[in-house]
Amino acid sequence: MNLKALVRCFEIENPKYRGGAIDSSISLLFKESNDPIFYKYLKNFESIFDEIIIKIRAIEESGRGKILEAIKEFEQKINDLLAELRNAEVPAQETGPFPMVQREDTAEKVYRFKIIVCGDSSVGKTSAVLRFTDRAFRKTYLPTLGVNISEKRFQHEKGVIEFMIWDIAGQSKFQITRKHFYSGARGQLLVFDLTRPDTLENIARWHHDIKIHLQENIYGLIMGNKKDLVDQRKITPKEISKLSDELGFEYFETSALTGENIDEAFFKLGEFLLKAVKSLKQK
Ligand code: GDP
Repeated sequence: MNLKALVRCFEIENPKYRGGAIDSSISLLFKESNDPIFYKYLKNFESIFDEIIIKIRAIEESGRGKILEAIKEFEQKINDLLAELRNAEVPAQETGPFPMVQREDTAEKVYRFKIIVCGDSSVGKTSAVLRFTDRAFRKTYLPTLGVNISEKRFQHEKGVIEFMIWDIAGQSKFQITRKHFYSGARGQLLVFDLTRPDTLENIARWHHDIKIHLQENIYGLIMGNKKDLVDQRKITPKEISKLSDELGFEYFETSALTGENIDEAFFKLGEFLLKAVKSLKQK
């Protein structure tokens, strides 16, 4: 049915049961196509869940009131919030400084590239992609399940570029599936966290893993993320330039929180890829 769910579990006190409580849960089913909005604004939905749980507990404990009515009210509140978020999203996207192109607007040739975003877990890959594609920042942490795919089309002086961005999960439990996602990639964005030296060390491993599976060295950039956490920074520019020289990749220092340098990094990668395609054609 192409549905997804948000599920909140909670307890209702009841001395008649073992442990003095009943386990209960509330599930909100939504269309898979609405996934990005729930994913991005999970925090906003939490208070509506908190409210319904308080109500259900009160109804169950007192034996007074109607659960169905409470649930209908919950549904209404979710729908109102969804409408509000959708309205807020549109103007936010329209005023972005980054040159964006809608599908209908252009008769120009579109250069499509698959990009893979790799790096250890929690370095900010998903946040960076969201910042680039939707100009928003997600404060709730949902470890990526395998892969997230998003698209973004933008104008470069030499042509219209469309990125299909594969944000690949960093956790080791996805090690086997991950490899299949590399296939067909033209560019790689290797992300580390400026506050965690181990994540920088692992960049070379990510690079190697991709190279082995694709059997070629695709274009790439290194992104040092969480630049805003100035006091927690644990990596020197020297360590970074050593790695960037070794891999032959340009380096960008970014913050998915403030948005600093995120567009610039993706834009640079687009420029690299476009140049490569054009020089290949000339040859
Ligand atoms: P991923 O596992 O690499 O996709 O990482 P996420 O994008 O899920 O981010 C992991 C955590 O770091 C989340 O709590 C984010 O809110 C946070 N985060 C991501 N980017 C930044 C950043 O630039 N600055 C700060 N301060 N936090 C960030």
